[in-house]
Amino acid sequence: MVQSQVKVFDVERIREQFPILSREVHPGTKLIYLDSAATSQKPRSVIEASTDFYERHNSNIHRGIHRLAEEATQAHEDARQRIADFIGAHSAREVVFTRNATESINLLAYAWGRANLKSGDLVLLTEMEHHSNLVPWYMLAEEIGLRLEFVPVTDEGTLDLEAYQSFLREGPRLVAFVHVSNMLGTINPVAQMTDLAHEAGALVLVDGAQSVPHIAVDVRELDVDFYAFSGHKMCGPTGIGVFYGREALLEAMPPFMGGGDMIKRVHLDGFTTNDIPWKFEAGTPAIAQAIGLGAAVDFLNEVGMENIHAHEQSLTGYALDRLNEVPGVTIYGPEPALRGGVVSFTMAGVHPHDIAQILDSDGVAVRAGHHCTMPLHERFEIPASVRASFYLYNTMEEIDRLVEGLHKVIKLFDIE
Ligand code: PMP
Repeated sequence: MVQSQVKVFDVERIREQFPILSREVHPGTKLIYLDSAATSQKPRSVIEASTDFYERHNSNIHRGIHRLAEEATQAHEDARQRIADFIGAHSAREVVFTRNATESINLLAYAWGRANLKSGDLVLLTEMEHHSNLVPWYMLAEEIGLRLEFVPVTDEGTLDLEAYQSFLREGPRLVAFVHVSNMLGTINPVAQMTDLAHEAGALVLVDGAQSVPHIAVDVRELDVDFYAFSGHKMCGPTGIGVFYGREALLEAMPPFMGGGDMIKRVHLDGFTTNDIPWKFEAGTPAIAQAIGLGAAVDFLNEVGMENIHAHEQSLTGYALDRLNEVPGVTIYGPEPALRGGVVSFTMAGVHPHDIAQILDSDGVAVRAGHHCTMPLHERFEIPASVRASFYLYNTMEEIDRLVEGLHKVIKLFDIE
């Protein structure tokens, strides 16, 4: 009999692999975790990969000539290879380990930016960027006098691509934008935007913090030059992130931080840099965390990124329908087909923090605030919003609990 290649998506079996999902957050109240855009929960295999490392293989890497050092080095570099395959990089040489997406973007601004940009150069960003893809550029702009421009966001919550093209005619050196917005959920047309940027002679950095965990990403197909993401939002540990760069660009870039591991030779009159990717990894890295991220990638591959995206799309469609029925709710962001598993909203007459607090009393964990996108909130003329974000382990019933919680808010605030 021919075995079907289609992987079956069974949310209850997936949930069983996340120990935290069975805990109570208040006596008798189970956790309903709708905050995966902030950080995801971890499956048992990821937790065990880290424990196994500390129990059996713990050692520093790259420089020891003993059994444990060799095992640890091998496991660390194997993880890098699996992550490279996961995002379609040409080779593991293009995968630099950092602490998180934020550090990846800072690495680019600091190392590439300082060496390649000069006063008056244009860096093109967008109004929907996370602070981590704004502040490093503001800092560099203050230091060397860059010009920063921002692609506007439409009322529907998509990027204004006409404005984008007219900014491209001004000859930016770098275009840096988010793949999936952490507030609006918008999935930006990365391949199309990258083609246009390249035609205009710009390099492209994509902030993939909210895309790599949720949709299949192939950096070669997208043809991006640089790509940044965090391990902790994709079932992996905290303290590990990735900076992907095209090999030739990484070769040409100066190092980021100085210290051990990033050098080949050090003399009293100077140093020579290590090969990529280690040139960008100064000091002892987050070894257990990299191995944990390798286990997270195995887990996501096992479930299938297409399955994860399809599941999140049905959750999001359902959530939008249900939230639209709640009086006084305003939802931000585009139609379901154009968005990932993120829904941000406000309720007339109630502050988002109060909403989050009332939801928490029923075990529903959402985020309230500006979600590190203050300029985007200003664009929509709101100080804050409530964000519910979904991942592979969420269910329709959990969305029902969210909606019930909102009805409780209405009653408590007497706003019907
Ligand atoms: N970009 C986006 C779109 C994000 O959602 C986040 C995390 N909220 C980041 C960047 C920063 O990720 P980290 O804090 O892991 O560096």
